[in-house]
Amino acid sequence: MFYFWIFYGYILIWARILHAAPRSQVSVSSSAAASVKYPPPGSGGSPQAYISSLSSAKADPKIPVTVNDGAAEIQPKLTWAYVASDEAYGPEEWHKIAPQCAGVNQSPINIISEKAVLKPLENPLALTFGNEQVAGKLINNGKTIGFNVANPSVSMAGGVFGPDKYVLRQFHLHFGCNGKKGSEHTLNGEKFDGELHLVFQNAKYGDSKVAMQQKDGLAILAFFLMANPGADPNPAFQRIAAKLGSVQMPKQQVEMDGGLSLKNLVPALKEGIRNLRRFVYKGSLPTPPCYESVTWVIFKRPVNLVPERFVQLRGIYRGGMQPLCGNNRPLQKLNNRELFLFEPAPKPTTPKPTTRPSTTAGRSTTGAPATAAAGSTTGAPTGGGSSTGAPTGGGSSTGAPTDTGAPPAADAAPPPADGDPPPPPDDAAPPADEVAAPPPEES
Ligand SMILES: [Zn+2]
Repeated sequence: MFYFWIFYGYILIWARILHAAPRSQVSVSSSAAASVKYPPPGSGGSPQAYISSLSSAKADPKIPVTVNDGAAEIQPKLTWAYVASDEAYGPEEWHKIAPQCAGVNQSPINIISEKAVLKPLENPLALTFGNEQVAGKLINNGKTIGFNVANPSVSMAGGVFGPDKYVLRQFHLHFGCNGKKGSEHTLNGEKFDGELHLVFQNAKYGDSKVAMQQKDGLAILAFFLMANPGADPNPAFQRIAAKLGSVQMPKQQVEMDGGLSLKNLVPALKEGIRNLRRFVYKGSLPTPPCYESVTWVIFKRPVNLVPERFVQLRGIYRGGMQPLCGNNRPLQKLNNRELFLFEPAPKPTTPKPTTRPSTTAGRSTTGAPATAAAGSTTGAPTGGGSSTGAPTGGGSSTGAPTDTGAPPAADAAPPPADGDPPPPPDDAAPPADEVAAPPPEES
């Protein structure tokens, strides 16, 4: 009797299995897995993808396939790129994997100076350097060449950021495959050869993944990069160039021995950032997931680099021996957003014949009142700034005097005195197709 029940149970189980198996699962052969059949030319049919089983299709929620006798809808692409391909969505379709990319507060934008709301420079916007040399790794993530900061030794507070403290997480580069096509933002229609993004995270959000989804989660300081045969050597970019051979292919990374000096990278920082002319607007990560969580600060004065640097960068690959260059997203609409231009306060009516030093002095004084006028914003930061650890020292930046008085930079041959805009070559051409860039601004 015992054996009978065992046998009976065995029969029942098999009957159940055979009955439950849908025909579609059975009819799909494993040899057809992942194959795609294309319709005859001119037939008007659409390609069909074949998958091996229903269960494997369900395993990935991003693939809403419907199994119909083995034929499935063609699989959606699972990644993005600056140029569309069979595997990746191009910029116009990024929203298919990241809905926020279709938002109305996206980046980058064309900055039109005339449309910017003029503001006095806010005195206390300051960078604080806990350590002059920023430790970290140079990384090719297939979308950009970036430098991931090992510890939060550089922070920013003040200005439009109020008392919040933002810490530098990484910086990275956007550049074109040929001249004048590499920047993400444009200035009055002009594109630059490249753009440097310093990505800061609001310290009040401990986790950068949380921060990147908050309205005040991220701040990006952006500097245009300009090829200039007469540029002074930029020691930081020289060191990056020397390491490029180690990150030529995606996913490669290399330690930057001894760290990198941000002030060498962006010589204008030696003067402190408070008095640099800059545009500010609220935008997004310019790469999927395109979260609208970025306060953009874009400086007028570009960083000049010898053209050879761009040639070297163009030797980097994003995979499949495709060059990484052209990692800039097409321009997005400003829509109803405000764009601000922070400039030095108008000079006193009786111009002084003196030059730089007194100008500086004048500015800091004008800055102070502005502070008072601007009220809480600027006032608070001062405190915030100092609390950031300004005192710690390396910080030439926080203290007003130190800031501007800082090593007067015999360096970088940037344009005139004070962040004057670069000579804008007439390049009103809108961005091309090439375009396209987050780490994700991964932070
Ligand atoms: Zn970027």
